[in-house]
Amino acid sequence: MTTLFPSRRVQVLLPLPLQGVLDYLSPEDLPLREGDFVEVPLGSKRLQGVVWSCDPPPSDVPEDRLKHIYGRFDLPALPESLMKFIDWVAAYSLSLPGAVLKMAVSVPRAFEQAKSRTVYRLSVGNPDDLTAARKKVYEVAVGDMPLSVKDWCDLAGTGEGVIRGMIKAGQMTAVEIKGEDLFPEPDVTVSAPKLSKEQERAGDHFRALVRRDKFQASLLEGVTGAGKTEVYFEAVHEALLKPGNQILVLVPEIALTAQWLDRFRDRFGEEPVIWHSELTPAQRRRAWWGVIQGNVRVIVGARSALFLPFQNLSLIVVDEEHSPTFKQEDGVFYHGRDMAVVRAHQSDCPVILASATPSLETLVNAQNGKYDWLYLGERHGPAEMPDMQAIDMRKYPPASGEWLSDPLREALKQNLGRGEQSLLYLNRRGYAPLTLCRTCGHRIQCPHCSAWLVEHKKTGKLQCHHCGHWMGKPKHCPECESEDSLVACGPGVERVAEEVEKLFPEARLAVMASDELSTPAEIRETVASIVRHEVDIVIGTQIVTKGYHFPNLTLVGVVDADLGLSGGDMRAAERTWQQLEQVAGRAGRAEKPGTVLFQTFMPEHPVIDALVSGDRDNFLEQEANAREQQGMPPFGRLAAVILSGADYNTVVTTARQLARAAPKMAGVQILGPAPAPLAFLRGQHRYRLLVKTEKTVNIQNILRRWLDSVKPVGAVRVQADIDPVSFF
Ligand code: ADP
Ligand code: ZN
Ligand code: ZN
Repeated sequence: MTTLFPSRRVQVLLPLPLQGVLDYLSPEDLPLREGDFVEVPLGSKRLQGVVWSCDPPPSDVPEDRLKHIYGRFDLPALPESLMKFIDWVAAYSLSLPGAVLKMAVSVPRAFEQAKSRTVYRLSVGNPDDLTAARKKVYEVAVGDMPLSVKDWCDLAGTGEGVIRGMIKAGQMTAVEIKGEDLFPEPDVTVSAPKLSKEQERAGDHFRALVRRDKFQASLLEGVTGAGKTEVYFEAVHEALLKPGNQILVLVPEIALTAQWLDRFRDRFGEEPVIWHSELTPAQRRRAWWGVIQGNVRVIVGARSALFLPFQNLSLIVVDEEHSPTFKQEDGVFYHGRDMAVVRAHQSDCPVILASATPSLETLVNAQNGKYDWLYLGERHGPAEMPDMQAIDMRKYPPASGEWLSDPLREALKQNLGRGEQSLLYLNRRGYAPLTLCRTCGHRIQCPHCSAWLVEHKKTGKLQCHHCGHWMGKPKHCPECESEDSLVACGPGVERVAEEVEKLFPEARLAVMASDELSTPAEIRETVASIVRHEVDIVIGTQIVTKGYHFPNLTLVGVVDADLGLSGGDMRAAERTWQQLEQVAGRAGRAEKPGTVLFQTFMPEHPVIDALVSGDRDNFLEQEANAREQQGMPPFGRLAAVILSGADYNTVVTTARQLARAAPKMAGVQILGPAPAPLAFLRGQHRYRLLVKTEKTVNIQNILRRWLDSVKPVGAVRVQADIDPVSFF
């Protein structure tokens, strides 16, 4: 075969879970650089990928067996820092590089230049004249942002007919746009709030780090309400002063940060660009293009924002760095906080980890001097730290079927009398976690998971919180068929709300749980109504612990402070302490002092003691000592191996084979196999092993060799989880 013009070999990475890169030939008249987006043939398909190397190692495959690249897309190359990061994450997490690349380019039509297109802007006169379906469209609109017909449909969850109808009726007007719209620049001239002495000291430190423009990790620790956000805004401001600098702020659950966005706008005149999984395809594409073209200056996003193609990353902030939601536990397993430090290192820029309750991992790094450590010990303004007390439930047991003790009821009553707001915290969605038959003892279970179905009274459903399976609440016991014998056991937030309603019929209640308040708009609205003091008592799950500032809220009651302490994993106590300290931090954030009451059957437990006495240093030191003695992270390395499959026997057989092939080396310990705590999940049987090594051991190498040495039986999936956070 003769080639028409001289060719050269390049390697292309496709955003697919394939083993490694593929060799192609690029025609010499098409100059390619590493990072270029190209289209290539694979089998009978045309696929899009990225040139990963223009100087590949020698290969045995003769050049005339290779196929030619079709062409290159007209967009900036994938920045080198992101290519490096993708390779690093793949190696660290034992994932395929293509699977990691996929996270970086998971944007609709990412590679194609935007053509001119027609979008529609709402132009409704009187919303009261709208039909119900059109009103829904009206209500989901964000400002006067124009959207395509399809995006309107997606956003409002409606059919195309409704939107076309509105266009016809003149309730929407067409706008022609070319390319992606640019985002407005944040305004660096807005006057900043006056900082307190300790805020200023921390702020100055961060400004200096940003100016120095080198890698340095810092822990920004400060009591709840100390003004950590204002302080890291100083760093953001400093970074914005230099043209072209890009800034990434990672937050645990973007949908829950309406207040944060408002504060950003107050400080910088514009909302930042947001990035999370709920964006419409058009919003995703616009943000991604804005980032790769260097137009977007500040992104606030969920962990996946780490994989955006920043041209000039100059600062990363990880807010609420202790949050377990930074850990991704499907596909590519990675910890967003840890990877943020790696990304900053590779981009040679500072990273700030902020929290009132830092993770032990971060604290240890601060204590041994690896991270700078800035501490804010006082709440901003006149606010004091709340008074914290335990209620011993053995002394004040509520009546059967009730959950609030007399002292908590009394405190609620007095707070209501004073016209102040209260929050009851229980980290359990729904009405009751278990439905039981009084006659035969049958417990209603999910058919696909080893978990009970949770009753949701509002919707009349029993629902699995793991797989989403649900059924209507039956009248008869499914086992013994007795009528009306099913009883609800234990409380969820709906049930606590029911009790409060009976106790204080005149009080205005709001339930905040992820299923009551699903859309960001609804969350925003509830938060705003609490701030406006249209609510007396809030009953909420962990979504209320996420940094909200409610100035009139003075009482926090923790319904079950023991929940979560019994879990067997090494972070149970630490995580419970973090959660309760955060929820307690919602009390008394303005002029009026706050009180926090913890209902507990174990008032002497170290976690409760640390909260009530305020002696967190001692508590965390004990936790750190225990981990050090057991050689657990951050003092040793840990990885989990999770096996899953539809057929129980093949899962167990593979688990046993792995156990037999386990590496026998000094400093390496294999625990298990054992059935996972959730031994059956979404129809899959699950087994787990744990690998624990000394800190100096390369745990990835050990795992790679070990897992490669065993061929799974049948369709068993073997997944490695480096630095596991949950052990379900
Ligand atoms: P943290 O994140 O440390 O819990 P925040 O940053 O939410 O604290 O600050 C708590 C409240 O105090 C917020 O309403 C914030 O706007 C306000 N605040 C903090 N520092 C200042 C300041 N220097 N000037 C004005 N308001 C401030
Ligand atoms: Zn029964
Ligand atoms: Zn289920």
